[in-house]
Amino acid sequence: MNRVLKAQGVTKRFAGITALDEVTMEIDEGERVGLIGPNGAGKTTFFNCLLGVLQTDGGTVEIAGRDVTGAPAYRRAKAGIGRTFQRIELFPDCTVRDHLVIAERIRRGDGRLWKDIIGLGRPRPAEVARCDEVLELLGLVELAEEPIERLSLGQGRLVEVGRALMTEPKLLLLDEPSSGLDRSETTALAKTLEEVQSTQGFAILLVEHDVELVTSFTTRSYVLDFGRLIAQGPTREVMASSEVRDAYLGNF
Ligand code: ATP
Repeated sequence: MNRVLKAQGVTKRFAGITALDEVTMEIDEGERVGLIGPNGAGKTTFFNCLLGVLQTDGGTVEIAGRDVTGAPAYRRAKAGIGRTFQRIELFPDCTVRDHLVIAERIRRGDGRLWKDIIGLGRPRPAEVARCDEVLELLGLVELAEEPIERLSLGQGRLVEVGRALMTEPKLLLLDEPSSGLDRSETTALAKTLEEVQSTQGFAILLVEHDVELVTSFTTRSYVLDFGRLIAQGPTREVMASSEVRDAYLGNF
């Protein structure tokens, strides 16, 4: 089994606060892993340290066998890490397909700036074909020409996933995908994600407050509290542990 993430002793401090204290995590190809913990526990900080949005104060990060400790975000993306955002970061009047085309042009990256990428004009047939393959996987191909503003929140989340998939990640970080969705939309999103992930083989690290989603979607979970890992193991066992329930008091 190929290891897609090996993070060892990851530490991050902000003026006086230790947001992450020696966090160690390993994820294998094809796994679905949860990262849970109360507000302010350090989950987003950990994502940002893996992605290279933040540099760490200690520890090492390997993505798919490549040591990316200290490397900038674009190198980590090339090594195989992708992400979605908690708050959707899409352009309302751009079409669904345009979002993927831009991601594809960034992936091929030749140092162009965003404005040049957007200024490249209409998608070429090869770009359309590749984007539509990903849209097909996500059940969005019929919406390819729609502007984002016409989509539901759940469909917007899938476009974000599609955009991340254009870079062919080996590890996809999902930041609270259920945020703002009701139960049936959350279930539909989880089903699509499961289908795509099981055919494509990438691993997922899921940050979520929705305990039901974490329990049904992931097989293993890590629990952060005040920047420290307080539990890890099979998700159902982790959720049942008294230490986790205490840390979460008020959140269940
Ligand atoms: P939530 O579930 O609310 O999103 P979280 O688990 O993602 O929380 P983080 O956002 O990673 O938690 O925050 C961890 C700690 O680091 C908090 O105490 C937070 O205030 C602090 N922190 C995060 N980013 C910064 C920053 N840029 N400057 C200073 N402190 C920060």
